[in-house]
Amino acid sequence: MSSEVIDPLLMPVQFLRGVGSLRGERLNRIGIRRAFDLLFNFPRDYLDLTDRREFKQLESDKIQTIIGSIESWETRSTRRGQMLALFVDCGDGFVKSLWFKMSFIMRDFARSRRVMLTGKPKFDHPFWVMMHPQITYLADDEDDTGTNQFLPIYPLTEGIKQHHMRKIMREMLPEYSSKLEEVFPQEFLTQHQLMPITEAVNAIHFPADKNEMVNAKRRFVYQELFILQLGLAIRRLQHRTRLQAVPINSSRTIDVRIRQRFPFKLTDSQEQAISEILGDMSKAVPMNRLLQGDVGSGKTVVAIYAMLVAAANGYQAVFMAPTEILARQHLHTINRLLESSRVNVVPLFGGQRPTERANILQEIASGAADIIVGTQAIVAGEIPFQKLGLVVIDEQHKFGVMQRAVLKSNAKFDPHYLVMTATPIPRSVAMTVFGDLDVSVMRGLPPGRQKVVTHIANPEDRTKWWEFVANKIRENRWQAYIVVPLVEESENFDAQSLHEVYEQLSNGAFAGFKIGILHGRMSTDEKERTMFDFKTGEIEILIATTVIEVGVDVPNANLMTIESAERFGLSQLHQLRGRIGRGKKAGYCTAFTSTPNEDSQKRLEAFAATSDGFKLAEEDLKIRGAGDLFGTQQHGIPPFKIADLVRDSLIVDEARKDAIDLVNSDLGLANTEHAKLRRQMLKRYGTVLNLGDVG
Ligand code: ADP
Ligand code: MG
Repeated sequence: MSSEVIDPLLMPVQFLRGVGSLRGERLNRIGIRRAFDLLFNFPRDYLDLTDRREFKQLESDKIQTIIGSIESWETRSTRRGQMLALFVDCGDGFVKSLWFKMSFIMRDFARSRRVMLTGKPKFDHPFWVMMHPQITYLADDEDDTGTNQFLPIYPLTEGIKQHHMRKIMREMLPEYSSKLEEVFPQEFLTQHQLMPITEAVNAIHFPADKNEMVNAKRRFVYQELFILQLGLAIRRLQHRTRLQAVPINSSRTIDVRIRQRFPFKLTDSQEQAISEILGDMSKAVPMNRLLQGDVGSGKTVVAIYAMLVAAANGYQAVFMAPTEILARQHLHTINRLLESSRVNVVPLFGGQRPTERANILQEIASGAADIIVGTQAIVAGEIPFQKLGLVVIDEQHKFGVMQRAVLKSNAKFDPHYLVMTATPIPRSVAMTVFGDLDVSVMRGLPPGRQKVVTHIANPEDRTKWWEFVANKIRENRWQAYIVVPLVEESENFDAQSLHEVYEQLSNGAFAGFKIGILHGRMSTDEKERTMFDFKTGEIEILIATTVIEVGVDVPNANLMTIESAERFGLSQLHQLRGRIGRGKKAGYCTAFTSTPNEDSQKRLEAFAATSDGFKLAEEDLKIRGAGDLFGTQQHGIPPFKIADLVRDSLIVDEARKDAIDLVNSDLGLANTEHAKLRRQMLKRYGTVLNLGDVG
């Protein structure tokens, strides 16, 4: 070797004892190239050997471990495939182990070889029988089981077995784990009761007991979450120090004038949200707030309130929605509330005639336009605002850390941002994905709302349900949605399947009723006409794709049918159901499903059981598991290696608080004792969080 100092942790795995070139290659295939990678290839689980039993102490259906010696074995063909039976002499009797389609493990059997069996036994006279137990050979690979109560189970690749991995790890750990450098200052470790790195790596592979295992894991989970929270805290700091907004203040007069326009009293949670928003807007730092409120909780008026305060102060406000249908609905609402007021509200949509558009842009540029309502796609373009004070983004679901819309006005200041979402996000996810935002939460609905009765139904129940719907429309003049899922990616195809449903129903169950169709492929005019007809009651039944999923507000529509409900995610189902029960009458939602799998079954059960969006969000996360769509990746954050936002939600809170404290006490992490933390944070999240040149 050359005289250069080579970091031993970079040692290619094939040079480690017990690896060699063949296994080395196999490890490479699963991304384990160097000693360092092996150290951080944490066990995915452990074999719990704590419950060690003698033959006479065995019990049914609990994981237990027993030691004995191999007596004999045999194989037999069965309907379930080749069956392998192994008889192990445990002193006072025999334990019979059964495996199906796993005859290969027989290769390691030898008469009298001492083994340890771990599994759930069942008594079947005269044997205790274990199905697919974990078998561990004692004499060769692990004769020191006395000290290890938990054996690591690794994520494996073909050609490498658990006992190979354990052996490799036992060989390399003592030498290499001691070479790891600690990223946390010693004092920090003590203060936060974190296991030092070397000890933690040793313990996560071969914990002496449960306690060690838990503590070692905790250290790495904490570290992973803490590093991300550091990034978020720094991003927040940058936002505060680099951006400048104009303070926008309300006054008693402004407040009274705005409230006069609302036909109802604001709810407590609306009041709370408004006061938090006004608090932010009165500062010279741009507001960066997420308003999370369940479907139907009344977020729109909160946004309108904030926009009117901006307008009253002479600043422009923009209101963006994800779909044109929704944007137009907002335009309607605002125009209705502001009838004969001096506030100038302008629409900005695709498909506007060039002269019309030119006029509107002119009004925006001159400052004549006070409130601009449009779709995100249009507004986020190069629009020359004169003095943009506030941006409201409605129904932002996939609001990732990367994609915060950037709107600039000609003025020398940045606008305040208010982002609204009706997709309640579990707290631990919000803290992670929106960790640099302030969050207002609106729980509960405006008074007077009736419950929505939800049924999960089979196709056989359809006739009865259609009768019910028809009656409600005839007798109570109610209106109904029928939602058909996206059948294929192609929108043409959707339109076609919608038309089929239309044909069927208009010639069958709903002959004589006024039925409309709504899908993404229709022209703007057609969409608008249809929505207008539905709002005014001209259309009684609206057959639609999920274009009506978010935001649409037609209080007289109280009947919702969801077809092929198993295809929708939980939050989507909740959004769809949120279209009804918005008025004073009860709503009825029936979700038809024919072929649910286990997960969709669970989803549908949760959906029927509660209409609290926040509870559903927690359920959803549990069913999907963290790291799935609902988790962090869709928001632009790389997957976690060990942390799990469901299981580790308490550590999320802790890490977040600690990270904020640290960044506040050492701005920008300039202190040399934090250099390693800063480097690790930048390496992992610098680009993702767009942190630029930190310190
Ligand atoms: P979301 O939070 O889902 O966007 P909306 O803002 O569309 O909800 O409000 C849902 C319905 O509740 C609307 O018809 C709105 O007029 C009504 N609403 C909002 N606030 C109140 C209130 N304080 N009292 C009564 N009705 C309200
Ligand atoms: Mg809304």
